[in-house]
Amino acid sequence: MGINLVQYRHLLQTLPQDVTLVAVSKLKPASDILALYNEGHRDFGENYVQELTDKQGQLPKDINWHFIGHLQSNKVKYIAPFVSLIHGVDSLKLLAEVNKQAIKNKKTIPVLLQVHIAKEETKFGLDAAELDQLIQEIQGQPEIWTGIRLSGLMGMASFTEDASQVKAEFDILAELFEKYKPVQTANISFRHLSMGMSNDYELAISCGSNMIRIGSMLFGARN
Ligand SMILES: *Cc1c(COP(=O)(O)O)cnc(C)c1O
Repeated sequence: MGINLVQYRHLLQTLPQDVTLVAVSKLKPASDILALYNEGHRDFGENYVQELTDKQGQLPKDINWHFIGHLQSNKVKYIAPFVSLIHGVDSLKLLAEVNKQAIKNKKTIPVLLQVHIAKEETKFGLDAAELDQLIQEIQGQPEIWTGIRLSGLMGMASFTEDASQVKAEFDILAELFEKYKPVQTANISFRHLSMGMSNDYELAISCGSNMIRIGSMLFGARN
């Protein structure tokens, strides 16, 4: 089973104008990405640093690469030169490394802070207090953080059939997003609310998402 272009076109037609579709191509071949690229698609999401750098080397240079996986600090340097948006930043340590590598590359890297909204213990992310602390830290020392821009929030809902549970989790993230939107500094400017995957993107959009990360619905199931 390969890429589903009919599904892609249909999805694009049904999405509200302000919602960015990030096509999650992890574990899928570069040829699948190229097929979507040839439809005009430019935003692709990857979870693994080695796989991302391999694909970036092979594919057209005007692709906007989103890193959506759990990023280790010691690997930031490999993606800093070309990455468009890092979705899953959930510690000051990681943020500091992104800042450092961005400055080295003479660029500003937009990042989304990951918030833990799911019931499951295993999912990464900050709680509301940690999020607040981190934002205050950046706000308090703008001269240090010139390599990054806090551009919004990202989260993953619980893996459950219970739509009311998923909705409650998306609502929490959307509320936090609205809370910090008025904060506008040189390197804080919230515009992206990244929530929603193949199974729950419609609900996510109804809760205020403007960036969805869709993998299996476009590329087929992963092994
Ligand atoms: C894999 C992944 C996705 C895509 O999931 P699908 O269910 O295949 O749409 C979205 N977000 C993150 C963080 C992922 O790891």
